[in-house]
Amino acid sequence: MEEKGYLQNYEIYPQVTEEEKSYLYLYSLRKMAENNLESNRAFMTGLYNLRAFQYKAAEEMRENPELRFALIVMDIANFKSVNEFCGWAVGDELLKCVAEAFRELNGEHVVLSHFRADIFGMLTPFQKDSDLLEKIKQIKQRISEFKIPCKVLPSFGICVATDSQMPVSLMRDYATMAMKTIKGKFYADYAFFNEDMRQTMLLEKQIENDMVKALETGQFRLFIQPKVNMENGEIIGGEALVRWHHPVNGIIGPGQFIPVLEKNGFIINVDIHVWNEVFKFVGNRLKHGKKVVPISINISRLHVYDSSFKENLVRMKDEYQVPPKLVPLELTESGFLEAADIMYDNLRYLKTQGFTLSMDDFGTGYSTMTMLKNQPVDEIKIDKGFMDDIQNDKSRIVVKNTINMLKELDMDVIVEGVEDQEQQDFLIECGCKNAQGFYYYRPMPVEEFEELLDV
Ligand code: C2E
Ligand code: CA
Ligand code: CA
Repeated sequence: MEEKGYLQNYEIYPQVTEEEKSYLYLYSLRKMAENNLESNRAFMTGLYNLRAFQYKAAEEMRENPELRFALIVMDIANFKSVNEFCGWAVGDELLKCVAEAFRELNGEHVVLSHFRADIFGMLTPFQKDSDLLEKIKQIKQRISEFKIPCKVLPSFGICVATDSQMPVSLMRDYATMAMKTIKGKFYADYAFFNEDMRQTMLLEKQIENDMVKALETGQFRLFIQPKVNMENGEIIGGEALVRWHHPVNGIIGPGQFIPVLEKNGFIINVDIHVWNEVFKFVGNRLKHGKKVVPISINISRLHVYDSSFKENLVRMKDEYQVPPKLVPLELTESGFLEAADIMYDNLRYLKTQGFTLSMDDFGTGYSTMTMLKNQPVDEIKIDKGFMDDIQNDKSRIVVKNTINMLKELDMDVIVEGVEDQEQQDFLIECGCKNAQGFYYYRPMPVEEFEELLDV
């Protein structure tokens, strides 16, 4: 026998009008959903799970269009450490305490949820922002009363509904995004979603949509910023820096798209493309007997997860017949530290193949001093941050002594972000010769760089 759908059941009541039919249909769906809601509670805390929350919250908003609603998301930034240091049982107790704190704020038109793990949510009507902040304060207060050896750091993101039709899942995405901007920062514990964040999110989505085609159609272009000898102005090398020539948005800088590509892993493909362009460029010049200088390439920390990382570099040097010393590898401190054992093996191997390693953004991380002793580094690139404050006496002492120390450790030193003569003069006084910065050259298309080398 043919299975009967919900609508078909009503066929036995021929007197039911179309309008009533659809009402009954919605009613039965609703009943079903409500029954479901009961089985859709988070196991540990008894609050609604995500699915039930979305249903209930959307209904509250729809049925009360005269009210202003906000969705608050809460995440405990250091929940993993709580579990690790205090044990899972304490972690569970903490979650129950959070659930209790949320429950105390329950009321008319309020919907509470334990989305997953240590993430909770609340849809609540409100009049003024301060009403929402008061709720957050109460939750924090309650959590701070939970006695454990480590401090618990809850972060809150808030999205205010633009109207009663705003999709709850979108509100949750927005609130989560707001929360991520402050997660783990001890000086801020809540953030409202705002227009800037929306723009960032749209851009991220656009980058993700467009990146594959962009790579296929050559929109990622090689730029090179010259490195100079400050004493005589000679170009001693260059750094490969990628630029995205987007057909609609124009040139997009790496600061905007690289973080997104690092989140989704596509940076690996883009890097390989950039490296290939660099090897091709250097190889071609060598082949034609033209002047060459080392062009360093950036290695994202994510390459440690690419099993063909080192083979790719070795293959390129062979294919384009480029001595590896002409393509130094720049890694930031976090690059050296990501899956450190594997990365260390990779780098050791690449050194045996003749590659040299440069530690990028030196001075911005925290374990730099220990790393210097342990990593196979040939060159240090002192971060621009060191230059920013050069008028300050204490900063000068730091720069001078850092350069001395690195030289004693027998490392090559180059300073990034040199922007004026005062900085240059001071660096020369400190015994540092090499620099890269806008004072000399900005990153330029590879063709322009060629012209510079050819003069
Ligand atoms: P980075 O590796 O530290 O590159 C140096 C950055 O400093 C470049 O920014 C350069 O334009 C900028 N810079 C150089 N001199 C000065 C100066 O005097 N003043 C100021 N204010 N800035 C200066 P850019 O090209 O925007 O690149 C930003 C970051 O994006 C790079 O920082 C690097 O981490 C990443 N990146 C760029 N291209 C690639 C790439 O092909 N692959 C990977 N994995 N990362 C890349
Ligand atoms: Ca670099
Ligand atoms: Ca750098």
